[in-house]
Amino acid sequence: MPERQSSPRKKPAAPASAGKRTARPRRLPPATVEEIFRRFEARDPEPKGELEHVDAYTLLVAVVLSAQATDAGVNKATRRLFAEAPTPEKMVALGEDRVRELIRTIGLYRTKAKNVVALSQKLIAEHGGAVPPSRTALEMLPGVGRKTANVVLNTAFGEPTIAVDTHLFRVGNRTRLAPGKTPLEVELGLEKTVPERYRRHAHHWLILHGRYVCKARKPECPACLINDLCPFEPKTQPAPPPRDPAVGG
Ligand code: SF4
Repeated sequence: MPERQSSPRKKPAAPASAGKRTARPRRLPPATVEEIFRRFEARDPEPKGELEHVDAYTLLVAVVLSAQATDAGVNKATRRLFAEAPTPEKMVALGEDRVRELIRTIGLYRTKAKNVVALSQKLIAEHGGAVPPSRTALEMLPGVGRKTANVVLNTAFGEPTIAVDTHLFRVGNRTRLAPGKTPLEVELGLEKTVPERYRRHAHHWLILHGRYVCKARKPECPACLINDLCPFEPKTQPAPPPRDPAVGG
């Protein structure tokens, strides 16, 4: 019996690898993940955030102020603010108008001033003036979302939380350490992927990597510590050497 001919108009089935748009990005193999964090740790065993603070309260306020603002800009404002109000009690006594005046150089300062005074009132009323070491309690404070709570839990209380900001979101996707469409997806992916012994510092390693090396517009791939392990394409290339004017042309 002759073989049935398939219709010439019918397209052949696409190979599994051809579905570029719909295929879920693959995660890195565990050995590669381990090597990435081994290198981050070897270079910077105790990474630190760049928001200036002296305790959990001043850290909390600094992080609340840092939304849509640079750390350098926040530090400039908090040096003035914390000189006058380093505690929740003093912040409430200072009042919203004065707080607004002291932080007016940073974005969204009106809403942030309101939140800083309101969260200070709530800390006094419900937590004896202390910052609670609990995600649920932190997220009940005005102006505090999941990302802020994660930074405070990690930096002030040593918990292995990973706060996903714009830098970390980019790095998680480019490196495929934790591909995801939302910050939460990347955060949960990193929690699964990052080996436990590196989890405490993963947040700072990745955020600093995104801020200074794996930059949004032009990542510095030639200088990147994990260039050979990162699957991102196209990587940026080293600048060509300057032309020697003595040679030809
Ligand atoms: S190689 Fe390039 S894209 Fe990959 S992590 Fe490094 S800087 Fe980012």
